[in-house]
Amino acid sequence: CNYFFEFLISHAKVYGFIFPSSEIYGGLNAIYDYGPHGVELKNNIKEFWWKSMTQLHENIVGIDSSILMHSDIWRASGHIDKFNELLIDHKDSKKRYRPEILIQKYVEKNFLNDPKKKEEILSRLSQSLKKKNLLDIKVLIDELCICDPIFKTKNWTEIRNFNMMFKIIEKDLFLRPETAQGIFSNFHNIVKSNRMKIPFGIAQIGKSFRNEIIARKFIFRMREFEQMEMQFFILPKEEIKWYNYWKKSRLKWHLDLNLVNKKYYRLCDHDHLAHYASFGSDIEFHFPFGFQEIEGIHSRRDFDLKNHEFFSKKKFRIFELEKNYIPYVIETSLGLDRLFLAIFSSSLKEEELKNGKKRIVLKLPYCLSPIKAAIFPLVKKNGLPEIAKKIFHDIKIHHRLVYDEKESIGKLYRRQDAIGTPFCFTVDYDTIKTDTVTMRNRDNMKQKRIHIKEIPKILEKKTGF
Ligand code: ATP
Repeated sequence: CNYFFEFLISHAKVYGFIFPSSEIYGGLNAIYDYGPHGVELKNNIKEFWWKSMTQLHENIVGIDSSILMHSDIWRASGHIDKFNELLIDHKDSKKRYRPEILIQKYVEKNFLNDPKKKEEILSRLSQSLKKKNLLDIKVLIDELCICDPIFKTKNWTEIRNFNMMFKIIEKDLFLRPETAQGIFSNFHNIVKSNRMKIPFGIAQIGKSFRNEIIARKFIFRMREFEQMEMQFFILPKEEIKWYNYWKKSRLKWHLDLNLVNKKYYRLCDHDHLAHYASFGSDIEFHFPFGFQEIEGIHSRRDFDLKNHEFFSKKKFRIFELEKNYIPYVIETSLGLDRLFLAIFSSSLKEEELKNGKKRIVLKLPYCLSPIKAAIFPLVKKNGLPEIAKKIFHDIKIHHRLVYDEKESIGKLYRRQDAIGTPFCFTVDYDTIKTDTVTMRNRDNMKQKRIHIKEIPKILEKKTGF
């Protein structure tokens, strides 16, 4: 798994999907840039989610709210007081750790053969976390004599709460840690301007920022990332009905992507709920490092609208059928970068060929591939490049294509396999006589002859959403 993950990170860099940010200055921990193929794939994923949320649901509309918002928004939402993680510093290594993770890892490693003891410690940890008893967690670390993994010493500080929002100090502003508040604060603008009636949803895709204590595993946990969120406003008495509906519907959406067998997904109810949630569950995906959250579904009830009503002194109510009430909210919150990683990791394959050689192929769903087709001349002479370029220019307005003549045909195919391009069309000497080209399929590498006129129709049919 580690070998595969290292290979994946290297593949993403070599083929222009993802680069470490600020690499020329030594990089920036847990921040990444999307390269030319990465941004195309990411945009396709966004468009796929956006269309399925807004175009296919007539009662869900979109919004694109600002990243910087009035700081009272974060007071009302509870993020200033409660969006915290526990933190412990080590005095020698100056490293920061999440104490609960430190304990969990220690127990996993040292009590493998003593499940009773393991359970006893983990249950004590869970109780202390529930009661927010920081002292007891520290006592547990001391009792277990947990050392810093590098310095092998026990010099721990006290445990403290660490707020995960990034603050712009001179302006008293925060970088948003979730996109949802831009939706809540625009609630009335949207209801009025779009004549929305309960139940209805508001969807948004955008950047969020969290000062994660431990940010690693490539793009899985970053300090700057993108979310695709949808807040669904409902009658309070229909909370359970819609919560179950969205849990089921979101899991189905992931399965319909048809990336991997459904056993790679699981739905887990939350033990520890976020401060705003009354129910919560995660859709987990089997990443190369194991099952981890990819999307959260929560019932936020009237937590946010009620608090905004209190702080802003504006009404956040719906008047319908002579009733006046604050709607409840069911939220679906998907990490775009995590979905990118799920798609990328499950599509990347090494295949043994009949001639004993190997090929690397990115078997992305066709509709998400960054490039839909590549056009090559078999050789760089005798008018073949001109014909191939004409095909490229005629179709490029409708489909994302590349024209390439930089290497031999075998190498050109391998490169497109590694990028995930579903089709390659090659112009050869027969093209001059018959207006036909060879069409090569990425997945089975089979080739067939087709008429040039058929190319747009094939791409339309096979590579659209
Ligand atoms: P985790 O438990 O992994 O920290 P979370 O429960 O805090 O995640 P939510 O607040 O529910 O996450 O955010 C919704 C989604 O946003 C997550 O399911 C995940 O896909 C994505 N997300 C959250 N934090 C990050 C991050 N630091 N980097 C990348 N994606 C993230």
